[in-house]
Amino acid sequence: MGKTNSTSFKELTTLKVGGNIKYFREVSSKKEIVEVVNFAKKNNLSIFIIGGGSDIAVNDKNFDGLVIKYVGNKSQITNHKSHVLISVEAGIVWDDLVKLAVERNLQGIECLSGIPGSVGASPIQNIGAYGQELSETLDRLTAYDITNQKFIDFSNKDCKFGYRESIFKQKDYWQKFIIINITLKLKRYEDNDLSLQTIRDEILRVRGEKLVNPDDIPNAGSFFKNPIVYLSKKVELEEKYSDIKIYPFQGKYKVFAGFLIEKAGWKGKSLGPVKVSEKHALVLTNPGGKGTFSDIKNLADAIIKDVQDKFGIILEPEVQYINL
Ligand SMILES: Cc1cc2nc3c(=O)[nH]c(=O)nc-3n(C[C@H](O)[C@H](O)[C@H](O)COP(=O)(O)OP(=O)(O)OC[C@H]3O[C@@H](n4cnc5c(N)ncnc54)[C@H](O)[C@@H]3O)c2cc1C
Repeated sequence: MGKTNSTSFKELTTLKVGGNIKYFREVSSKKEIVEVVNFAKKNNLSIFIIGGGSDIAVNDKNFDGLVIKYVGNKSQITNHKSHVLISVEAGIVWDDLVKLAVERNLQGIECLSGIPGSVGASPIQNIGAYGQELSETLDRLTAYDITNQKFIDFSNKDCKFGYRESIFKQKDYWQKFIIINITLKLKRYEDNDLSLQTIRDEILRVRGEKLVNPDDIPNAGSFFKNPIVYLSKKVELEEKYSDIKIYPFQGKYKVFAGFLIEKAGWKGKSLGPVKVSEKHALVLTNPGGKGTFSDIKNLADAIIKDVQDKFGIILEPEVQYINL
C-alpha cells in the first residue's frame, strides 16, 4: 500500500479535539480505495472515513486503526432537455460545487452556500440550510461497500434521507460505505429579477455574520438539532415566551434550539476551556484548541440537562460523537 501518515483528529477536525491516529491515508481513485481497504482487512484495522472534519467530535483516545480521506476531485456536467446532471467526486469542497452550480445558473443548491466540508460527507447528514436540503437534488451516489468489497450505486430513495439523517448514519451502514461520487439533478434557473449569485452572496453574508468561522475559533457549526415538538408543546412554549421562534415542520413544529439555549442563560458561558459562542448560542467553541473531547461533552451534557429541566425538551446533538 502507498504511504500512510500518522496524525490526529485534533489536526483533522474543525473542533480541534480528538486523539492520535496511527494510519491516515488520502486516496483519489477506485484502485487506491480497494488497496487501502485490503491493507486494513489484512492487518485487522478498524476504518474511519473522514472528509473536512467539520461535523464530528472525536474522543480523546488514540486510534490504532486507519482513517481514509477520499480526495478525488473530478466533475462532469451532462445537459438534458429538462435538467442538468452534475456528477462530482467526493473530495471536492462542498462550497466549490455550489459556486460552480451558481456560475452555470443551475438552481437547487444555492441556499447551501457556505456549508463547510466535502461533497462526500454531504449525504451523510443530508445537509440543509435556508429551506433547502441535499435530498431535494441528489439523484444518486456511488460508494465502496467495505464489507462486500465492491462499488455500488444508491438512488435517492436508497439513501433514506430525513432531517439531518440518512441510511449512512444507521448502525449497519455507519463507516461501511466510502462515498466517492454524487450526482445532482439541477434545473436551469429562469428568474431574471433575482439571480442565483445574489441569493448566494446574501446567504454567505448572513452566515458570515451569524456563524463562527472555525479558522478563527474552532467549532463544528450548530451543535444541536432543532427539536421537533407536538402542537401541545408549541402552544405551551408560545404562552410562556412571546418571542420564541417555532415553525411548522412535517405536521409537527420545529423549535430553534439556539433560542432555548440562550433563554437558559448559556450564550457566551464557559465551562473549563470550552465555551458557548457569544455570537450564536447553538455553537460550542473550543478557543485556541485548548479543550478536549471530554470538555466539549461536559458542556453539551450540562446544556442538555438544563434545557430539559427548564423547557421539558431533550436536545439531540447534530454533531456526531465519534467513540473509536
Ligand atoms: C461553521 C459551520 C457551519 C455549518 N453549517 C451547516 C449547515 O448550515 N447545514 C448543515 O447541514 N451542516 C452544517 N455544518 C456541518 C458540516 O459542515 C456538514 O455536516 C458537512 O457535510 C460535513 O462535511 P465534512 O466533510 O467536514 O464531514 P466530516 O466531519 O469529515 O464527516 C462527517 C461524517 O461523514 C462521514 N464521511 C465523510 N466523508 C465521507 C465519505 N466520502 N464517505 C462516507 N462517509 C463520509 C464521516 O465518517 C462522518 O461520519 C456546519 C459546520 C460548521 C463547522
